[in-house]
Amino acid sequence: MTKLADILRRVIDTHGPLDIGQFMALCAAHRSAGYYHRRETIGLAGDFVTAPEISQTFGELLGLALAAFWQECGRPCPIALVELGPGRGTLMADLWRATAGVRGFHEAVRGVHLVEISGSLRQLQQQVLRGLPLVFHEDIAELPRDLPLYLVANEFFDSLPMCQFVRTARGLQERRVTTDASGRLAFVLDPRLLPSSTLVSVGLDAEKVEEGAVVEIAPAREAMIADLAARIAVQGDLAYVIDYGFDRPQWGDTLQAVARHRRVEPLAMPGEADLSSHVDFAALLRATAGSGIRRYGPLAQGIFLRRLGIETRLAALLARATPEQAAELRSGVARLTEPEAMGTLFRVLAMVGPRGGVPPGFEKEEAAG
Ligand code: SAH
Repeated sequence: MTKLADILRRVIDTHGPLDIGQFMALCAAHRSAGYYHRRETIGLAGDFVTAPEISQTFGELLGLALAAFWQECGRPCPIALVELGPGRGTLMADLWRATAGVRGFHEAVRGVHLVEISGSLRQLQQQVLRGLPLVFHEDIAELPRDLPLYLVANEFFDSLPMCQFVRTARGLQERRVTTDASGRLAFVLDPRLLPSSTLVSVGLDAEKVEEGAVVEIAPAREAMIADLAARIAVQGDLAYVIDYGFDRPQWGDTLQAVARHRRVEPLAMPGEADLSSHVDFAALLRATAGSGIRRYGPLAQGIFLRRLGIETRLAALLARATPEQAAELRSGVARLTEPEAMGTLFRVLAMVGPRGGVPPGFEKEEAAG
C-alpha cells in the first residue's frame, strides 16, 4: 500500500469517488506523496524513457528547427524560449548546445522559461542547465505576455488529467475511482447517466459501439492547448507539441501506469507509477480552431525528424563515435523514427503565429486550417 493510497482513501471516504482526472492529478502532483515529487522518474534508472533520453538528436533538431523559424521571422529580439514539462532537462540542454552556433539566437533569448510542477525535477533541471537564464513557472499563466514564444512540449500533454466514460447497457456513465469493501482502490461507474449525444461533438456515436467500450475526454488538455494557441496568436511565433496518441477520435481505455519500465495496474501503485494516456490530437485541433493561429499536423514523429535531417545529424555523430557509441546512436535514432517503435505512435503538432511561413519539419499542405 503506498502512502498516497492511504491519502486517496481518506479523500474518497469524505468526498466520494474521484473522477479519473482528479485521480491522475493527485497521483502526479500531491504535495508530499505525488509521483512527480520523486527524483528518479525519467531515464534508464527511473520508470520510463522519453525521446530526449534516447537520443541527443531529438533536442538538437528541435532546437535547430526553432532557430531556423526565428531567422525566418526576422530574428525578433527579445524572445522567450519555453519548455513545458522539461523532465531531466536533457531536451533543453541538447537544444541549447545545438543552437549555440546560430548567430544572435542565444542573445535574443530573454529567459529559458521552464513550466514544471515537480520540485525535485526543478532541482535536477537547475543542475543540468546551469548557466542558462532559467525562469521557473508552475503554470503557463505565468509565462511572459509581451514576448514571442518559441516553445516545445514533449510528453507533457499525456500526463495532464483526462476523464473516462463507459458505454453501458444503460447509456454512458463516467468511470470513477472508489474504495472496495477491503479498502482497496477500485473502479466504479457513476450511477448518473449521460445522454449519448454528449459524444456527438467529439465525433463518436455511443449507439454504435459495444457495451464496455471506453472513451476518454480531456478538458484539462484542451484548455491548456487553447491557452497556448491564444498566446501564439497574439505573441507569436512557434510551438511544437509532441506526444503519443491518435489523430482521430476513438474508443479505447489508454490509461497506463508505468513503474520501472513495466506496465502496472493503474490503481496499484498511486504516486509511485507514472500515469498517462494517449493524447487525442483531434481534440487538440478542435480546441484551437478559430484561435487565429495556423496549425500543422499532427505528423508522425519519424517523418518529422527525417525531414529535419536526423540521418545527416546521425552521420555527423557517427564520424567521431567509438563502435559502442555508434551502435547506441544508431539504435537511438531507429527507436525515434521507425514505425514499429516511436516513429508513428508519436505525433507532432505545430502552432504558428501571424508571421513566418511553414514551420520546419512540415509541408504547406499539412496545415490543419
Ligand atoms: N519532456 C520531458 C519529460 C516528460 S514527463 C521528456 O521528454 O523527457 C512530464 C513532465 O511534465 C515532467 O517534467 C513533469 O514533472 C511535468 N509535468 C506534469 N504535469 C505538469 C503540470 N500540470 N504542470 C507542469 N509540469 C507538469
